[in-house]
This record gives sequence, C-alpha cells and structure tokens, in this order.
Amino acid sequence: MKKILVANRGEIAVRVLKTARKMGIKTVAVFSEADRDAPHVKLADEAVCIGEAPSNKSYLLGDKIIQTAKHLNVDAIHPGYGFLSENASFAENVEKNGILFIGPSSKSIEIMGSKLAAKEAVKAYNIPMVPGVDRAITNPEEAIEIAKKIGFPILIKASAGGGGKGMRIVENEKDVKKQMERAISEAMSAFGNGAVFVEKYITSPRHIEIQILADTHGNTVHFFERECSIQRRHQKVIEEAPSSILTPQLREKMGNAAIQVAKSCGYVGAGTVEFLVDSNLNFYFLEMNTRLQVEHPVTEFISGIDLVEQQIKIAKGETLSFKQSDLTINGHALELRVYAEDPLNNFLPSVGKLNTYKIPKGDGIRVDNGFEEGMEISIYYDPMLSKLITYGKTREEAIQLMIEAINNFKVEGVKTTLPFGKFVCEHDAFRSGHFDTHFVKNYYNPKALENEAKKEAELAALVALKIHLDNQKILRVPNSN
Ligand code: ADP
Repeated sequence: MKKILVANRGEIAVRVLKTARKMGIKTVAVFSEADRDAPHVKLADEAVCIGEAPSNKSYLLGDKIIQTAKHLNVDAIHPGYGFLSENASFAENVEKNGILFIGPSSKSIEIMGSKLAAKEAVKAYNIPMVPGVDRAITNPEEAIEIAKKIGFPILIKASAGGGGKGMRIVENEKDVKKQMERAISEAMSAFGNGAVFVEKYITSPRHIEIQILADTHGNTVHFFERECSIQRRHQKVIEEAPSSILTPQLREKMGNAAIQVAKSCGYVGAGTVEFLVDSNLNFYFLEMNTRLQVEHPVTEFISGIDLVEQQIKIAKGETLSFKQSDLTINGHALELRVYAEDPLNNFLPSVGKLNTYKIPKGDGIRVDNGFEEGMEISIYYDPMLSKLITYGKTREEAIQLMIEAINNFKVEGVKTTLPFGKFVCEHDAFRSGHFDTHFVKNYYNPKALENEAKKEAELAALVALKIHLDNQKILRVPNSN
C-alpha cells in the first residue's frame, strides 16, 4: 500500500493522515471549498477540491471521491467516521474499482447499520439484548402489548437511527399512539426509512462500549472498554477508559460478547460494540459501529496501540501481531470533545471565527485537532473542533490533568464545551464514579457555569486593580522632605 486517500475532514482526517505518514505511505486529502485552508489539506502530500461546502456537494460524493482516487493512483481509501464511513454501497464501489476500503465489508456495514438487522444477526450468539421487539412495528396496539409485557417506560427507536436521533421515550399507554406516529415520520424524514421498534427504556444506564479488531485470518481481539455515559442529547461528550464500574470478570464477559457480535457479521477491521449496563451490572447489546470511533484515542492511550495503524495493516491483509492474552490496560485516559457549542444555551452550535485558538501541551496531553486560529467555524459540518485527551497512571491523575489542560486551552470567538468539561471533572458524582447517562439532566445547570464565569471575571478584575495600584505606588515620586 503506497498511497491512501482520506475521505474526510477535520480532526479525524488529520489523525489518519499522521499515521499514514508515520508508516511511510503517501497521502491524498479531499476538501470542500469551505476547507481550502484547513490543516488536513496542508498535511497531505496531495489535496483535491471535490466541491462546494455542503456535504452533499463534496464529502458525500462517493463517486467523485472514487474517481479522484483512481486518477491519483490511490491504493486505499480511509473513510474516517461520519460522512461515507458507514455507507455500504460506497464501501462496495471502492472495492469494485480495485481500491482497498479501510474498513469492514459492505455486508457487515449493511447488517450493523440497521439496528434491527444487527439484533437479528446476533440472536444466535446468546448475547444479552435490551428487552423489546426485534422487528419493525407500525401498529400502536402492538407497541402497547409489548410495553405491557416489558413495562413502561419504553423507548421507540428508529432502526436506521444514529447520532442520538430518532428516539422517543414513552412513559404511559395513552402517549404510545402519538409518539409512535411522530417517531415514524421523524425516522422517515431523517433517515429515509420509517422502520421503528420498541425497547425497554433502561432508567439509569451507563453506556459502555468495547473496541474490537479483527483481521482477515479469523483472529478477533478486544481492547477493553470505553465508558461514554457523559452525554447530552444522547450523544457523548466525555469518554474514558477504563470504566470505573467494570470488574475484571465483567470486562472479560463483555469483551467476549463483543467478539461474538463481530463474528456474527463476519467483521474485519476496527469496530465498536456498544452496550448499556444497568445499575445491577447487567449488560445489554445496543449496536455495533462499523468504523473508527471518535473516542478511540482513550483506548490507544491505555493499550499503547495505534488503532489506525492496525486498520491499515488489516486492510493490507496482515495477521494481528498480538493475541488477547498479550493485551493489558495501563493507566487511565479521559477525552473531552471540544464542540463549538454553547453550554449555557442548551449546547446549541456556536458559529463564528476562532479569534484565539491556543491548544494545551504537555506530558500526558494529546489534542486531536482540525482547526487553527483565524479559521471560521462553518455551519455546514459537525461543530467538533478537537478532542482533548489526557492520560495518567490513575483516574484521579487523568482528571486533574484534564482540568489543567482545560484551563490552558484558550478559545475566543466561539463558545465551546470546555467549561462544561471542567464542570464535569470537578463534580463529585463524576469523580466518585457514581453517574449514569443522565448526568447532565441530574447535575448540570448552566447557572453553575455562569457563577463560575462571574467568579473568574471578578478575580480578573481584582488582579487588574491590584496591578494598577502597585504600579501607582512605583510611579509615585517619593517626597524629598
Ligand atoms: P445512536 O445510534 O443514535 O447513537 P444508540 O442506540 O447507540 O443510538 O443510543 C444512544 C444513547 O441513547 C445511549 O448511549 C443511551 O444514552 C441512550 N439509549 C439508547 N437505548 C436506550 C435504552 N433502551 N434505554 C435507555 N437509554 C437508551
């Protein structure tokens, strides 16, 4: 493999390009007109503009990307996450054009891309699943029947859902019909597929996922878990590895279950099997993501493995160079997704110019970044600026370093999730490890951040006043009498 094209933008494009370069592989970036000056464009050996700013006119143009790859004699395409990464027909077309797709087969993507097909595939493997139905339903009466069996609250979910979208919690029988109609029409307009199903709503779950790697020779290993329970809108903001609630026995059980899920769809490459864990430490299969996950760096820190390098080696047909028994957890890692969002205003996207953008540096700090000072945050793409990752010998150390790194991360021009990250890291529930996916609802209150900001402003004013007074003392001409 001599040349890789990265079909993505932002921090993940930069991340993949770095490993490709480290491996001595030539790189090609693609970009939209809005990303002409983006870091991923500068980092690649070659870069090609593939269209206008909106994703459907650039980063989602599979055929155009494949044509570009062929034209530049590219051997393999890495899709990153998002965009075309979980598009089965793109993966198939890449391979049909004689280019390697750095990811699983289109068949695996297709199965796991549908939550219902995924449930069907893992059925034979004795994997615990959230109680509910594993087929599409349209009749509210049927949903009520199921709800009576599994008990309210229930969750109506879109089979094609993703990114935390297409889910509706229903507390009682009288709301089922209305919520179901809404869920179906939402699923239809958001995903072009109106199939919905019903699951028991687990009231205080933790989201814990297992990283797996599978080669083309039948070897599959897991890289332990990532705890992803700190979420807003059912979407992750802070992740860590390992989770503070897993025992070695449970870790092994969940790891083996994840390997079975991967085997159920003939998986090859890097993938993530997501589970919900309830307050009694029962775990349930949620879904499998057939790509590199945003939060993969925490796993890289604790395992010492470069997952992108492994993806590339697997795509080349190499055999995994380690067995499960060779893998161990070392230390603790934490990741904060630095989104251009306003935590004081419902985490709504905050667009504007990065007037100041200074990234923290130091031992145990990694920033996967796709931006530079002076760049505009575009409305066209996901508002994630970068990921701030810290590593320590212990959880406590990683948290402390995260707080320091947040203090040294300077962003002006847009609002970010940095102050929210600090709030979480300083919160007793998070520090003690006693939290679930409802952390934001249960503990977060924008007032707390406002008060913190006010305190900081007051302190800054006091410091300025003190400096001013000290200067006056120095300047005062001593009385000569
Ligand atoms: P998506 O594909 O949109 O990311 P997931 O099925 O992975 O959807 O779920 C995303 C999040 O939604 C989970 O991390 C969890 O917080 C919540 N969730 C999903 N299913 C359930 C459930 N049955 N009970 C409680 N929470 C759930």
